Amino acid sequence: MKTTRTTCPYCGVGCGVLVQQSTTGEITIKGDELHPANRGRLCSKGIALAETTDHPDRLLYPEVNGERVDWETASTAVADKFQQVITEHGPDAVAFYVSGQLLTEDYYVANKMMKGYIGSANIDTNSRLCMASAVAAHKRAFGEDLVPCSYEDLEAAELIVLLGSNTAWCHPVLYQRIVAAKAENSSLRIVLIDPRRTQTAEIADLHLALTPGSDAYLFNGLLAHLADHGLSDNDFFKNHTEGAELAVQTAREQSGSAAIVAHQCGLSEIAVEQFFALFASTEKVVSVFSQGVNQSSSGADKGNALINCHLLTGRIGKAGAGPFSFTGQPNAMGGREVGGLANQLAAHRDVDNPEHQQQVKQFWQSPTIANKQGLKAVDLFEAMHAGKIKAVWIMATNPAVSLPDSKFVKEALSRCECVIVSDCVASNDTLDYAHIRLPALTWGERDGTVTNSDRTISRQRPFMASPGEAKQDWEIICSVAKKMGYATAFSFQNAAGIFREHAALSWYGNDGTHCFDLGALTMLSPEDYDELPPIQWPIKKTCKNSKSWYSTKRLFSDGKFFTDSGHAKFIPIYARTPISSLSEDYPLILNTGRVRDHWHTMTRTGISQQLSGHRQEAYAEIHPVDAAFRGIIEGELVNIDNELGSICVRAQISYNQQVGSIFVPIHWSNDFANTALVSELIPGITDPISGQPESKHTPVQMSAYPASWHGFVISRQKLNATLNTIGTDFHWSVRRVKGAWVYMLTGTKATKDREIFVRSVFGVDEDNANWIEYLDYTQQTYRGARFNKNQLDCCIFTSANSDPLPSKQWLISLFAKSALEESERRALLTGGSAKAMPNNGKTVCACYNVGEKTIQTAIVNHQLKTTQEIGQCLQAGTNCGSCLPELREMLIPLELETG
Ligand code: SF4
Repeated sequence: MKTTRTTCPYCGVGCGVLVQQSTTGEITIKGDELHPANRGRLCSKGIALAETTDHPDRLLYPEVNGERVDWETASTAVADKFQQVITEHGPDAVAFYVSGQLLTEDYYVANKMMKGYIGSANIDTNSRLCMASAVAAHKRAFGEDLVPCSYEDLEAAELIVLLGSNTAWCHPVLYQRIVAAKAENSSLRIVLIDPRRTQTAEIADLHLALTPGSDAYLFNGLLAHLADHGLSDNDFFKNHTEGAELAVQTAREQSGSAAIVAHQCGLSEIAVEQFFALFASTEKVVSVFSQGVNQSSSGADKGNALINCHLLTGRIGKAGAGPFSFTGQPNAMGGREVGGLANQLAAHRDVDNPEHQQQVKQFWQSPTIANKQGLKAVDLFEAMHAGKIKAVWIMATNPAVSLPDSKFVKEALSRCECVIVSDCVASNDTLDYAHIRLPALTWGERDGTVTNSDRTISRQRPFMASPGEAKQDWEIICSVAKKMGYATAFSFQNAAGIFREHAALSWYGNDGTHCFDLGALTMLSPEDYDELPPIQWPIKKTCKNSKSWYSTKRLFSDGKFFTDSGHAKFIPIYARTPISSLSEDYPLILNTGRVRDHWHTMTRTGISQQLSGHRQEAYAEIHPVDAAFRGIIEGELVNIDNELGSICVRAQISYNQQVGSIFVPIHWSNDFANTALVSELIPGITDPISGQPESKHTPVQMSAYPASWHGFVISRQKLNATLNTIGTDFHWSVRRVKGAWVYMLTGTKATKDREIFVRSVFGVDEDNANWIEYLDYTQQTYRGARFNKNQLDCCIFTSANSDPLPSKQWLISLFAKSALEESERRALLTGGSAKAMPNNGKTVCACYNVGEKTIQTAIVNHQLKTTQEIGQCLQAGTNCGSCLPELREMLIPLELETG
């Protein structure tokens, strides 16, 4: 058994993972008990990592214009194209669009090439979509992009405010730490501020379901309240901050009383007063903020409105106190360290500061240096659409799905002279537009570091061989840079060498003016780098010439900030409502976000059957009033549209939504459904300071989908391409199950065409001996199955929309058999199993594959009253704990019944 210590590739919690490999190559995943982020815990996504290491659709060889080529040809093609465009149109006509999935070493090299050698700042990252507003807020308040807290502050706090964060699903291990802290400390209070009642509400002592977008009014109100009731820390704010007076005055003018705030935020006055009193009376307050704050046209202001309250009360730089931005991606923070955003340089230097430009240029010995901000993500694709960006290199991200206004983004990509994509997968929505495809290594194969939300740098270590000719991103970038004539600066031999240079730059000319400092790690040997334990920056030497170092848990304990004056800055905030407003045509607010068991565009989690069972299809969560008003029924499809596009997803009716708001997850790309790409509806409206798109407030309308038939296909092979060629008047979505893919189908076409439809999907001709079928025009029922020898290869069942369909569970079980019995073949056509199969319902516990119906039955039959009792009975919830909020929710009806 070989064990490798590495880091989870998903969210910004940055959990340590132990990968154990048997001699036969079998992989087992465990949480690393020595890692400070998770101390042995993992969530459902982390636990399922072993299932995602064998991707069926890897990009294995470089390709130019659809032809396989060798690396020499591919890197020459990229270098020549960049060189040609730069010569003809200047350096600002090229761009890199990179990703928080890259390792810090990849990111560092990409940024160095663009800003120091090409001489443009046109490198931006998909992290722009998740935390650019937090970066801007930090920079304005602290002088540098600095997260003051450490995860340990969650346990040290007496009050945790969760603002715009569904922590239970988006940062599950931190949620579990909070749950454990609450169990340990009965005086710990949790306030959730979120328009939706999410799974996180289950641990909240107070849930403020405020009007979407009104957060800054609430925190302005809190600031005014604290100032007007003598609740500030005068010593702290007088000695260590500046600008309090104007910030308080602005807040007071706009949100000067609890009554006004209650009106502005759609809350009761009592709830507002309760929150203000709780904040004011608790010394140790950690305020977590995340995408609900950041993804807004005033996201930076919302962040500063919150930070202002911490500055006024001195609730920063102390154990259990401070504003705490939870980042979405595994290495969003690492990208910020190296200058992966178009408005940063490297090592927290400013791109528009001439002194910083000189410092970085000197360190790199580079021929040039970017001297102005580059194009931020949305602007970059707008420039591409307008023909100003002529060559773009996209690394480890899928902007055709993740950026707002995806139709526009696809148009921009199709207009671009040369699109280069480095990725580990062979197909996704962005790769469709690539002229040059470069195969990159992925988790388990690559070597480097990532930095999580609390500034902890952790190693990602390889444990599998590189497939095909795939290379690590930094190697690919260096090979192109060498071809462009920059061999000396890009002659790195390994990730350790890049990390040393990155550390040295953070220390270069840094006489305490910059907090970001890895100076103590500049001399790491390759062996030291291999062994590097998780460590939080800034990292200083214990004494000059010493080889040992110490890290820093909490920032600003000394009251020193990194502005010119050394004081933190209050930012006066004039709160604004979202830019897009509702109208008669578009009366509903569309909010977007993540689900528990999927990640980004599902390229990894979508191949895991364990993770695909929890939310099996894209859905819209809808308040019962909005559903009833439109005749929408639970589980049926709904159309959601606006001027930009239209999607079709499953209705999930819930009181967790506010009336007038709907929620749709971000994950379903065209690889997993033909009409569920929610980014198609989101306009490219951004925060003017941070450039982050407003992804949580899009006016839309909604109607029931007029289905006339429904059905499903279970197939060993994916059928996306075939289904897409047949037509657009039906909806499909696909999920992974054991040994097969399940396609859910719903259509509007006349039922008599069903036979033709099915035959075209499967390419069945009249004398196809491997095909059996049953057609009943009167009952509007069609059943068909194809065999490979005697093994079931695929099957299809369709019926009128009102009629039930056979049990998928039984059918899926047939795919595990090498040959079917005669009775099973017959049962296929009668549409049912000879033996009844239980229907377990959608997966709730992904670790032990326990379904909703199984749990409901056990709760009733065994009168289970606690999640522990469910665990004892079914094992559900006893491993990673990600499903505990849903288990508790399922117990509520019983609690109500029994009083
Ligand atoms: Fe990975 Fe889950 Fe930890 Fe996030 S919380 S890093 S997804 S195991």
